[in-house]
Amino acid sequence: MRVVLAVVAGKVAGFLSRIGGYQGSSLPGRIARRVDGGVLTKLAGQVRRGIILVSGTNGKTTTVNMIADVLRHGGYRVTANQEGANMLNGVTAAFVKDADCLGRIRSDFAVIEGDEAYVPGIVREIKPGLVVVTNISQDQMDRHGEPERILGIIAASLKGLKNTVLALNGDDPAVAYLASRAELPAVYFGMAVVTHAATKKSSGPNRIAATLFCPHCDSILYSFGAHNGHLGGYRCDNCGFAKPDQRVEALEAVAVGDAYLCVVDIDGSKEQLTLQAKGLFNVMNAMAAITACLHSGMEIATILSGMAAYKPVTGRMEKYLYKGKTVFLVLVKNLVGFSEALAALREEPESMDILIALNDQEGDGQDLSWLWEVDFETLINQKKNLHSFTCTGQRGADAALRLKYADVPRERIALVPDLSQAVKQALGGRGEKVYLLVNYTLLQQVSDVLGKINN
Ligand SMILES: [Zn+2]
Repeated sequence: MRVVLAVVAGKVAGFLSRIGGYQGSSLPGRIARRVDGGVLTKLAGQVRRGIILVSGTNGKTTTVNMIADVLRHGGYRVTANQEGANMLNGVTAAFVKDADCLGRIRSDFAVIEGDEAYVPGIVREIKPGLVVVTNISQDQMDRHGEPERILGIIAASLKGLKNTVLALNGDDPAVAYLASRAELPAVYFGMAVVTHAATKKSSGPNRIAATLFCPHCDSILYSFGAHNGHLGGYRCDNCGFAKPDQRVEALEAVAVGDAYLCVVDIDGSKEQLTLQAKGLFNVMNAMAAITACLHSGMEIATILSGMAAYKPVTGRMEKYLYKGKTVFLVLVKNLVGFSEALAALREEPESMDILIALNDQEGDGQDLSWLWEVDFETLINQKKNLHSFTCTGQRGADAALRLKYADVPRERIALVPDLSQAVKQALGGRGEKVYLLVNYTLLQQVSDVLGKINN
C-alpha cells in the first residue's frame, strides 16, 4: 500500500513541477522515497528479466542510451534513467515514472546509470544482475588517489552479491582487476589496436606516456598498443596478470563523417557495425553496450541492427563550421536539456570555448533557478581543456555567477552583454571546438548572428 502512495506522490510532484515550468528530473524520486524508503527496491524487484547498472567516469549516459535503445529495438520494455540523473533520487524517479498508479512495473529490463560514488546505495536497492564499468579515469601521477578510492568503493559494494556478473573494460587494467577484487565472474570488452588517421588525431592530445603498475602485485606493468591514454594491451611479468580475453572487441574503427565503420569480434566471429557517433570513445561505449545486450540473451544480428539504428541523444543540436572549427548550437531550455548538453560536452576530447546565452522571457520560463542545479562542477573537474566561458543574454550575469561558484577561474569567464559581440568572442577562442548553449528566445538570434558571420 505504501509503495502505491509513494509512486502517486512522486508522480504528482513531477507533474506539478512540470506545469510550474521546472523540470527537476529527480524530484519525483525524492518525494517517493520520503513516503516509502523502500520504494526503489519494491519497484526494481518487479523487473522481469534483468537489471543492468552502468558506472564509470566517462561514457555512462551514452552507454545506457545505447543499451536501452538496442533492447527496445529487440522488442523489450525498458526502464532507464536516460536523462542522466544518476544518484538515488534520480534512479528512483526513473522507476516511479514507469510505474502505474498501482505501483506496478511491467518492464523486461532496467538499465540504470549510477554515479560512481553512489554505486553502493544503488546496488543495495536494485540488486543488478549485470554491472558494466566503462572506465575509471586514472591519473598516472596519483595511482593511490581518487580512482583507487572509487574502485575500492565499487569493489566493496559488489562483493558478496549472488548471481551478479560484471562487464568490464578489459583494456583498463585497474577496471579489469575489479573482477578479482569483487570476487565475481566477469566478461570483458575493449578495442584492439586501431590504426587509421582518425585515431591518430583524436588520441594525439590525450596520449600519456604511461607507467602502469600491476593492480595485483604493484610491479611495473608492460603495456603495448595504447590507443587512448593508458588503455591498451598489458601484461605483468611478475605475477602474470594480463589483459583478459575480450568477449566483444573492436578490431577496426574508421571514421566516415559522423559515423564509424567498425569490425567487431563478438564471441570469436567478425561482424561489421556502422555506428552513428562521434569520437573513438563512443566506439568503446558501443562495445560495452553490445556486451550488455549479449549477456541479456539477445541475438548478435538483432544487437547489430539495433546499434546501427542508434541515434545519439543530443537534444536540439545544430552543427556549423567557422574557420575550420566545429561549432555546435544547442538549445538548453531547462535542467534536463542543460545536463544532456554538458554530458555530450564532457565526452568530447577536444579543447573548447563555451558560450552560455540565457534570457528570461515568457518563452524561456521566467524562473531560471534550475541553473544552480546544473552540474557544472563535474564538467569543470573532469575536463581541463575548457578555455573560456562567455556569458550573455538577460540572465548572462547569473550564468557568470554560477560558473564562479563552480570554481571556474575568474579570467576564463567573460560577461559580454552584446549578443553578437559575445558570439564572436566565443568563436574567436583558442579551443578546437565551440559550444553555444542557448535558451529558447535567443536561439533564433544566435542562429542569425552565425549566419551573418559565415557570409
Ligand atoms: Zn603483477
